Amino acid sequence: MSNRQTKTDVILIGAGIMSATLGTLLKELVPDWEITVFEKLENAGEESSNEWNNAGTGHAALCELNYTVEKPDGSIDISKAIKINEEYQVSRQFWSYLVNSNLIRNPQEFIMPLPHLSLVQGEQDVTFLKKRFEALSNNPLFQGMEFSDDPAKLMEWIPLIMKGRTSNEPIAATKIDSGTDVNFGALTRILFDHLKSKNVDIKFKHQVDDLKRASDGSWELKVRNVDSGTIERHTAKFVFIGGGGGSLPLLQKSGIPEGKHIGGFPVSGLFMVCKNPDVVAQHHAKVYGKAKVGAPPMSVPHLDTRFIDNKKSLLFGPFAGFSPKFLKTGSMFDLIGSVKPNNLVTMLAAGAKNVPLTKYLIQQVMLSKEQRMEELREFIPNAKSEDWDIVVAGQRVQVIKDTAAGKGTLQFGTEVINAADGSIAALLGASPGASTAVSVMLEVIKKCFPQHIKAWEPKIKEMIPSYGVSLLKNPELIHEIHTSTARALGLNPELQPAM
Ligand SMILES: Cc1cc2nc3c(=O)[nH]c(=O)nc-3n(C[C@H](O)[C@H](O)[C@H](O)COP(=O)(O)OP(=O)(O)OC[C@H]3O[C@@H](n4cnc5c(N)ncnc54)[C@H](O)[C@@H]3O)c2cc1C
Repeated sequence: MSNRQTKTDVILIGAGIMSATLGTLLKELVPDWEITVFEKLENAGEESSNEWNNAGTGHAALCELNYTVEKPDGSIDISKAIKINEEYQVSRQFWSYLVNSNLIRNPQEFIMPLPHLSLVQGEQDVTFLKKRFEALSNNPLFQGMEFSDDPAKLMEWIPLIMKGRTSNEPIAATKIDSGTDVNFGALTRILFDHLKSKNVDIKFKHQVDDLKRASDGSWELKVRNVDSGTIERHTAKFVFIGGGGGSLPLLQKSGIPEGKHIGGFPVSGLFMVCKNPDVVAQHHAKVYGKAKVGAPPMSVPHLDTRFIDNKKSLLFGPFAGFSPKFLKTGSMFDLIGSVKPNNLVTMLAAGAKNVPLTKYLIQQVMLSKEQRMEELREFIPNAKSEDWDIVVAGQRVQVIKDTAAGKGTLQFGTEVINAADGSIAALLGASPGASTAVSVMLEVIKKCFPQHIKAWEPKIKEMIPSYGVSLLKNPELIHEIHTSTARALGLNPELQPAM
C-alpha cells in the first residue's frame, strides 16, 4: 500500500477515443486545468478503439442500412441517418481544427477517403434500397449518392463481389464517394501524444479499482499500479469514466442514483482478414449488406477496405458472438459481477426477452471457419479459405435499462450517464461509437459544466463552426463544411456534396 495521493481538476479513466476526445476538448477550452488519465493497459487505444478491434467506418449513415428503417406505410424513416451524418460532420470539423492549428499532423495517418456502398439482393430488398436512395439522394446531406441495379455497372464498382456470381436474383447497390475509413486506434494515440505535450499526466498500467465521493463533493479514486500492486489514492473535482466496456462496473461503484437499474449485455466480435494481396487489390470500398433476420444490428455484414499500418487490408465481418467479458482483456465474471440488487429485475427481464438473441449469438460463436467462409461467399463468391484468417474484434457492452418499451430493454446506442451535480459522467454503449465521439463528449461537457458553457461557446464555435446549428436547416453550410474539412483532412474536396 502506497501513501501516494494527488489532487487534480479532472481525471479521465481509460485511454480510448472517448477520453482522448474529451481531454483534447477540455485542454482547448481551459488550458490551465490539470488532467490525469489512468489506463490499465500498457498503451492508449488498445481496447475497442484499436484499429483491429472495430470496423473503422466513419459512420455518416452513407451505407449502413440499419440507420434507415422502413415504416409500416412503406416509406423510409431517414431521421436517424440525418442525426448520425450531422454528428460525423462535428467530428470532422474538430479533427480539421486540430490539423489546421498544427496541434496534430498527418491526417492521412488516421483518415482516408473510401467509397461507401450498400448492397442488397432479392426483389424485396432491391425495392427497399431504391426507396432509401430516393429518400436520401433528395437530402442535401447525402448528395452524390448513386443507385444501380445494372450488373455491368456493379462490376465496375465492386468487381471482387460481382465476379463468379451465378444467382439470377435481382441485385442492386448505392455508392457514394465521399465516405471515409478511419483508423480510430491511430487517432487515439495521436490525441494522447498531443495531450502529453500539453502536460496531461497519463498513467499507463494503472487500474481504477474503486471510487467514492469525498465530503467536499470531489471524487476519490483507488488506483492500483498493475506492475507493483501498490494502491494509490487520487482525487479530482470531475471524473469521466471512459472505460469502454469497463465503464458500467465503475459507474456502479460510484453509487450515483443515475447509475442504478442499468445493466450491460456483452457482445463479442470476429473479423475475417484477407492475407492474399492480389485479392486485397481488387476491392476499394466499404460495402454494407443487410442484417439477417433475427441478427442484431451490430452484426450487419460488410466487406471493407481498411488502411492499417500504412497498408491496404481487406476485412469481412463482424461476426457477433456471446462472451461474458466486458472488455477484450476482461474477466469471465464481468457479466455476473454486474448483476446488483438494484438492476436484478431489469437484468432478469432482459434475459427473458432476449433468449432468441442470446441463442443467435451463441450459435454464431460455434460457427466453424468454413461456415464463416460460406457467409463471406455471399459477398465474394470465389473466396478461398486459405486466403483468410480470423481475428478477434473488440467487445461491446450494450446498455440494458427500463424504458417506455418495458423493463430490461436492450439499447443499441451510446448513453451518457452523469451525476446531477455534474461531478462525474460515464459513457455506456457502443454504437455508432467512435465516429460520433466529438458530439458525445460535447454532450458530457454540456451536462457536466453548465456553469461554463456560455463562456466556452465562442471557442467551441471556432473549433466546430456548425456547433448548435442544424446543417440540414442551413444547407449553405453543408458544402462549405464538407469542402473545408475535406481539405484539412487530406480528402478530396471534389467528392463532397455539391450544392
Ligand atoms: C466489432 C466492433 C466494430 C466497431 N465498428 C465501429 C465503426 O466502424 N465505427 C465506429 O465509429 N465505431 C465502431 N465501433 C465502436 C467503437 O469502437 C467504440 O465506440 C469506441 O472505440 C469506444 O471508445 P472508448 O474510449 O469508450 O472505449 P475503449 O476504446 O474500449 O477504451 C476504454 C479504455 O478504458 C480502459 N479501462 C477500462 N476499465 C478500466 C479501469 N478500471 N481502470 C483503468 N482503465 C480502464 C481499457 O483498458 C481501455 O483502454 C465498433 C466496436 C466494435 C467492438
